[in-house]
Amino acid sequence: EAPAAVNFLRKIVADDLASGKHSQIVTRFPPEPNGFLHIGHAKSICLNFGLAEEFGGQCHLRFDDTNPSKEEQAYIDSIEEDIKWLGFRWHGAVRYASNYFEVLYQWALHLIESGNAYVCDLSADEARAFRGSLTEPGKNSPYRERSVAENLDLFKRMKAGEFVEGSRTLRAKIDMASGNINLRDPVLYRIRFAHHHQTGDAWCIYPSYDFTHGQSDAIEGITHSICTLEFEDHRPLYEWFLQHLPVPCKPRQYEFARLNLSHCVTSKRKLARLVAEGYVDGWDDPRMPTLAGLRRRGYPPAAIRRFCERIGVNRAGGLVDFAMLELCVREELDSNAPRAMCVLKPLKVIISNYPADEMQTLQLPRHPKQDMGTRSIPFSRELYIDQDDFSENPPAGYKRLVLGGEVRLRGAYVIKADKVIKDESGQITALECRIDADTLGANPAGRKVKGVIHWVCAEHSILCAVRLYDRQFQVAQPEAEGDFLEGLTAEDMAAPLYTNCRAEPALLQAKTGEAYQFEREGYFCRDREDLKGKPLFNRTVTLRDTWGE
Ligand code: ATP
Ligand code: MG
Ligand code: MG
Repeated sequence: EAPAAVNFLRKIVADDLASGKHSQIVTRFPPEPNGFLHIGHAKSICLNFGLAEEFGGQCHLRFDDTNPSKEEQAYIDSIEEDIKWLGFRWHGAVRYASNYFEVLYQWALHLIESGNAYVCDLSADEARAFRGSLTEPGKNSPYRERSVAENLDLFKRMKAGEFVEGSRTLRAKIDMASGNINLRDPVLYRIRFAHHHQTGDAWCIYPSYDFTHGQSDAIEGITHSICTLEFEDHRPLYEWFLQHLPVPCKPRQYEFARLNLSHCVTSKRKLARLVAEGYVDGWDDPRMPTLAGLRRRGYPPAAIRRFCERIGVNRAGGLVDFAMLELCVREELDSNAPRAMCVLKPLKVIISNYPADEMQTLQLPRHPKQDMGTRSIPFSRELYIDQDDFSENPPAGYKRLVLGGEVRLRGAYVIKADKVIKDESGQITALECRIDADTLGANPAGRKVKGVIHWVCAEHSILCAVRLYDRQFQVAQPEAEGDFLEGLTAEDMAAPLYTNCRAEPALLQAKTGEAYQFEREGYFCRDREDLKGKPLFNRTVTLRDTWGE
């Protein structure tokens, strides 16, 4: 096991507990239900739930649901399922920022009454122009000096639905000349006549992310509010609200570098495009770096947790190579996935010295190291090996089957190829071979046989389909320049599909998502759907890192 990677928040939490600043920590994971969770979210989940677990604290699940037009119940359901699948349980009930809409409204009134907020009638475009830029201070809104009474009246009427969308906002009165643009009178409320998945039609004004987040943390008694670095510039605003409102406690915000993973996109907006534009078959398509996609592809949750631990938590960004995630998946599957044989491109082998009416059943271990019992593998005169495991014109160093050469059939006999059988077009249709009957579980006498290939019995094997998934994008940084989908068609993203594969009989019992190592081929799991009546297996990952070879 690799040593635990650096996690600077671990030290902060440990110090806060040691100093007595907190007697127990409370963290939260705050997704917006506007898409499925992706591998980047896993980093935040492992961090927030992981710290709570490690230090005997609590972690809340709170949906950050202030933007009803983009949110859906289906996303809420998927997010809950994914967190549970990763192996975490939130403390208490699922929470929603919308649970706090009434308190937030009261606090907005409080800010108005204390002269710290005003109703502004600038349009969105005008407000943007007044905001200035990094190099230019903003200008005060002409509505900034409205009286408390007028602001109270207008804000209450905004809530009552008297004004059209976009006509007015409630803004904090902070500093239009601030070097931090987030402090230039940020918007607290917008008018939006949208049905909300939790609150229905109760509200036609919705609080902004900034006005919601810190106060929700305070209401829930969050001690360490952990977010990604984009929110560093929002921290002064986060603290401004806590200072100017009668909140029950003052949480602290900490930022860490988000996960950027090579060869895939991890932005809900971009993943949503892949779904909407038909590049993939939904959010849980095995090509998606969503947790649901990775699950369907066979990634074990323990591998994702291991990966998140290994990449560590710091404030310096950088790109993590997808190979690191694959390595964690392989480590996990190598220890825990039972072995099986599946021939992707079958080539018939006829064992000329084995009787046609005989069949024997070999018992092979399900795992080479762990005690997982055995599996029954039928052996008879007609077998299948993979087309790639025989060559008439072998390249130098070829260790598989050649005419006149020998290989071992995994777990069975050594065979020798005598003859190639071809059809009229010259295509190889079968091989005639002989077994050395003394080589079952024994070395052949007087010679070394290096190659070992996998095989199945022709009659007693099952037909199945196999899809060879790989990385989502060929290029390391698909988002680096321009449109990440430019020049790409849905076909470019299709995974190779083999539909006439032959697998050992035990695989008929494979359950959805259950991991197997197909010997010499990689790790696979059964898809939840069959393909034209055949079990379909998804390649989770190759056996070795052969990327770029
Ligand atoms: P996206 O950019 O994909 O839309 P988001 O940050 O808008 O993601 P949220 O639902 O707001 O998505 O995220 C919930 C939590 O997950 C936030 O605290 C956010 O900081 C964290 N998170 C999102 N993406 C990553 C990432 N790539 N690495 C680490 N944490 C992330
Ligand atoms: Mg967000
Ligand atoms: Mg977002």
